[in-house]
Amino acid sequence: VSRRRLFVPAERLGGARLTIDGDDHRYVARVLRGRPGDRLALFDGAGTEVDAEIIHVGPRDAELALGERRTVPSGAAAVAVTLLVAVPRGERMDLLVQKTTELGVARIVPVVAGRSVVRPEAKARARWEKIAREAARQCGRADVPRVEAPDALATALGDAELPALRFALWEGEHGRGLRAALVEAFGAPVTGVTRPGTAVLVGPEGGFEPTEVEQARAAGFVPVGLGPRILRVETAAIAAVTLIQAFAGGLD
Ligand code: SAH
Repeated sequence: VSRRRLFVPAERLGGARLTIDGDDHRYVARVLRGRPGDRLALFDGAGTEVDAEIIHVGPRDAELALGERRTVPSGAAAVAVTLLVAVPRGERMDLLVQKTTELGVARIVPVVAGRSVVRPEAKARARWEKIAREAARQCGRADVPRVEAPDALATALGDAELPALRFALWEGEHGRGLRAALVEAFGAPVTGVTRPGTAVLVGPEGGFEPTEVEQARAAGFVPVGLGPRILRVETAAIAAVTLIQAFAGGLD
């Protein structure tokens, strides 16, 4: 039943026709093997979906006729999760962005911590944004998570947009686990209630420096554990988003 979906920025969805080229053309022409008359759903990542019919597929571009427009429920979020994560190496960050998008993350803030091995280049952001768009399309999400430009941890901790409820995953925290903290914050897991936005911070492979745990605490992040095993950065991030979603009823 899943319809072929293509992300198109809102400002290009205004007219009656749309010409696509580059990656979008490749996707429609090669991956979908689109032919004149085939139908697609275009989504703008902000909750609008537009029916489209392929008019013409050329070697470099394709033309679509735009039809009915509708507003779709985001499908994302029983809870808006902001994930701040010390960027792990190459394909691990790609995996993290893809999987947390499927799990409904709202915003990803890549950070560089003291023990971070990876100093992401500015162009990495465009790749993560693309992965997020493709994962959103694949999983049927109408919105696309925002991926920020990489920032130093201290700067990211001071971000004025962070939601009030904040957790820092720290393997040195043996008292309070994320699950227990979520029970306190959300009550029992039930469906259909909007939950307060939640930020979760994941450290680098080398772990947080002790001063960073203190900085995070000072910025309102409650240190929480995720069990007795040391998880890789991407595993910890995926597990945390899953747990928060589950508590908000977003996986029911
Ligand atoms: N180098 C550290 C582990 C870092 S794991 C060590 O060997 O002790 C990478 C990140 O994942 C951590 O900074 C933390 O944010 C998160 N993490 C991994 N396992 C965790 C656990 N059991 N509890 C809480 N956070 C964990």
